[in-house]
Amino acid sequence: MSSLEEIAMLLDNSGSILLSGHVFPDGDCLGSVAALGLALKKKGKEVVMASPGLIPGNFSFLPVIGDFCTEKPAREFFDVMIVLDCSESDRLGNFGRYLNQSANVICIDHHLEPNELGNLNYFDSDAAATGEIVFDLIGLLDVSIDPEIAACLYTAIVTDTGNFRYEKTTAATLRKGAILMEAGIDASGINTLLFEENPLSAVLLMGAAINSIKISPGGSVAWMVVDLSMLARYSAQDGDTDGLINVARTIKGVEISILFREIAPGTYKISFRSKHKADVSLLAAKFGGGGHARASGCTVIGELEEMEAKIIKEALLEVAKVGKE
Ligand code: 5GP
Ligand code: MN
Repeated sequence: MSSLEEIAMLLDNSGSILLSGHVFPDGDCLGSVAALGLALKKKGKEVVMASPGLIPGNFSFLPVIGDFCTEKPAREFFDVMIVLDCSESDRLGNFGRYLNQSANVICIDHHLEPNELGNLNYFDSDAAATGEIVFDLIGLLDVSIDPEIAACLYTAIVTDTGNFRYEKTTAATLRKGAILMEAGIDASGINTLLFEENPLSAVLLMGAAINSIKISPGGSVAWMVVDLSMLARYSAQDGDTDGLINVARTIKGVEISILFREIAPGTYKISFRSKHKADVSLLAAKFGGGGHARASGCTVIGELEEMEAKIIKEALLEVAKVGKE
């Protein structure tokens, strides 16, 4: 693994830089790409900030989100491509090809069992968000954290830590939050935009998803389904399903919650969350996905009932491993 100092040195000596997060972009990857992109721009670099996959509307307040490239950058070759919050080429969508069109690839991630995607890699699965690592890297680049960069980093950290609640939130994470507030952001305003301006369609969809909750006989696994007909009924937008899975996890006694979201006829994006102990990255890996111990996902093609049965069975085995159900 490389050090952040080595990564900063390479960036200092590079001209054109492409930054990309992952498909189904979230606050951490968008905030990290935007913050590091802004910092590199401040250093006079030629920067392209990219997002494979549509950017959910609740992130439209991020300072540079309007400049994000979602299709094809103006240039074909880059000195460096930086991959943030992901270490798998197939999660880079249409930007995966720039791995071979960049002289150097830097990969920065906080997921478990990352792949050495870059020639320089920095992985820290103890970091609560990729934004925490980017915070440190920006310090090494000798760029001061202005209110715009701070808003992006705050968004990355507040979303991936579930509002500074999840267990990877350390004293250091909170200190970073404090420094970002001191940089002049309107933290409560950002929180309102992120969490309290949901479209009506999202809230109505949540009602339908809550009605779909099923629970295992012992009460340790809860799951919900959002299919294409539900999305159509409420004219749901991309991003309207964010946070749904956390509702199922709040049920007393539930250790693992699961959301089956149909993204194309017969294709389901499955999200897993655990509350205390079960390692859902192992569960997702059994179905070709990955992620963290407390949050993971995969995509599966098939018939829903059959898929549900298989996945719930494996989820119960994961719960049994940690002595529940
Ligand atoms: P979400 O359920 O929010 O889509 O994803 C939760 C976590 O699991 C995220 O950290 C995400 O990066 C990871 N994840 C989700 N889907 C996949 C997938 O298909 N493959 C891998 N490797 N990780 C995933
Ligand atoms: Mn993340």
